Amino acid sequence: MRHETMANRNGTEWRKQAGEKKRPNINRGIAPKQTRPKPGVVQPASLKQLVHIMDPASRFPTPIRPMGANSASTQCTTAVGGTVVDMINLTDITEITDTTVTAQAGVTLRELADELAEQGMEVAGTMDIVTRTVGGAVAGGCFGPVHDGDTAFIGSQAVAMTVVTPDGKVMRIDETRQNLLNVFRGSMGALGIILDVTFKIRPQTTFVLKQRKMDVATFGVAATRLVHQPVGIKFFYLPFKDRVYTALRRAQPDDDAKVRNFAWKLKDLGETSVLPAICGKLGRIVPIQSLRYSLVDGLHEMGQSLFTNTLTEGGSSAAEYMSQSGRYAGPPLEYSTWCFPAQDLGMLLEAYKVFAAEYYYNFKYRCDMPVVGFRLPQDQSALLSPSFDGPMFALRVVTSPHPKWEDYAMDYAEFAQRWGGVPLLNQSRCAEQGQVTIAFGSRLDFFKRIRRQLDSENRLVNPYLAQYVT
Ligand SMILES: Cc1cc2nc3c(=O)[nH]c(=O)nc-3n(C[C@H](O)[C@H](O)[C@H](O)COP(=O)(O)OP(=O)(O)OC[C@H]3O[C@@H](n4cnc5c(N)ncnc54)[C@H](O)[C@@H]3O)c2cc1C
Repeated sequence: MRHETMANRNGTEWRKQAGEKKRPNINRGIAPKQTRPKPGVVQPASLKQLVHIMDPASRFPTPIRPMGANSASTQCTTAVGGTVVDMINLTDITEITDTTVTAQAGVTLRELADELAEQGMEVAGTMDIVTRTVGGAVAGGCFGPVHDGDTAFIGSQAVAMTVVTPDGKVMRIDETRQNLLNVFRGSMGALGIILDVTFKIRPQTTFVLKQRKMDVATFGVAATRLVHQPVGIKFFYLPFKDRVYTALRRAQPDDDAKVRNFAWKLKDLGETSVLPAICGKLGRIVPIQSLRYSLVDGLHEMGQSLFTNTLTEGGSSAAEYMSQSGRYAGPPLEYSTWCFPAQDLGMLLEAYKVFAAEYYYNFKYRCDMPVVGFRLPQDQSALLSPSFDGPMFALRVVTSPHPKWEDYAMDYAEFAQRWGGVPLLNQSRCAEQGQVTIAFGSRLDFFKRIRRQLDSENRLVNPYLAQYVT
């Protein structure tokens, strides 16, 4: 468990778990001017405070790492011996026009969606977890399942942002500096800290869901046919049952899409709280592995049939967003996400089934949650976009916490390498330097060059990021 030491306004220290979700809403850590600031976490509440933290003359210990909701699964938000800049106090939605919304980095996607929904508007794209922050979602290259040619990356809807650079300067980047905007989308906070983002908005859209249960071979054939179609594909995969539960999304006018908010709420509760909680409990109280996993798989089959196949026929971003309440309060889950070339999906899922079965046979361990996958259309709006060269499928392996998970994640990274997997620096566990270099090639070289110009002293990179981006 990671811990950070923080100083409050009076200078006294207290301990905080880095993964803690409920944080007091006070401005901690802006250290008194004359004293050397202590390592830890700071929570700026204004541009002035953020500039003060970033200004080298203020001597805040480095590395300095920005943090949103901290839902990343890697060490990208940690700063051992340095300063974590927690954006929780920068939560204003500062402007809504007919075509754009401007929100500070600490606003959650849920808060943003709620505010826009009141005016019948939305930012394009849907995201699985609404407790993410605007800053984390844009800097972390956040994506979700989308329909009808929509972009999967929320960052691609960013038309401007205000950034504080590692030397404490304020920089406004907009579409007149398109290349720079592209570099900052998905930049993992390695170029500067985003203070606010302006997104394009549009009237709310609805979609219909076509849901099916099938075996992997059938799904592989269907998915290959659909790869270049303008349809959203999301699926839950139970490799030990050879089962895939798919949901295809197509845009549909309001009247035809039966959006049942209650059904979305129930689905969300089941998928993110009830099932993970039961699986975690079964892990502790059923000692016989074969029995436990057969119970777990049975529960997921039941859950998918109930929550996905029968209840939700239609949806909208608003329904999806509003189905989730507040900050993520479910049981902790471990995950690792990699992206794979879309045309290989059928073979990839077959190979993963073999990989998971062999791992279980050899090491008596397997994940207890379904693998989650969705299609990412080609997207070149960010320099380090994982689907820059063509459509990809993101494959998220998820489990309740377990001592053997870390080894599993390491072997999953090797598996990913064999299948041309593209790592995500905030979501792919145990990615090797070589995997990142091969996946991003000359785009990574360009990113490193920009980084050297903006952060020649390496103030913004911790050892985890340094291995990939310096
Ligand atoms: C169960 C689960 C499911 C998930 N599913 C998905 C999914 O479907 N799709 C997906 O994309 N992600 C997914 N994630 C990963 C995670 O939600 C994303 O990485 C998200 O973008 C992070 O948002 P955050 O606010 O939590 O950012 P954090 O995790 O706090 O930070 C992410 C990165 O952005 C940087 N950063 C944060 N704020 C700023 C800022 N203001 N300025 C500059 N840099 C900043 C951080 O330093 C870090 O490098 C999932 C996570 C969990 C736990």
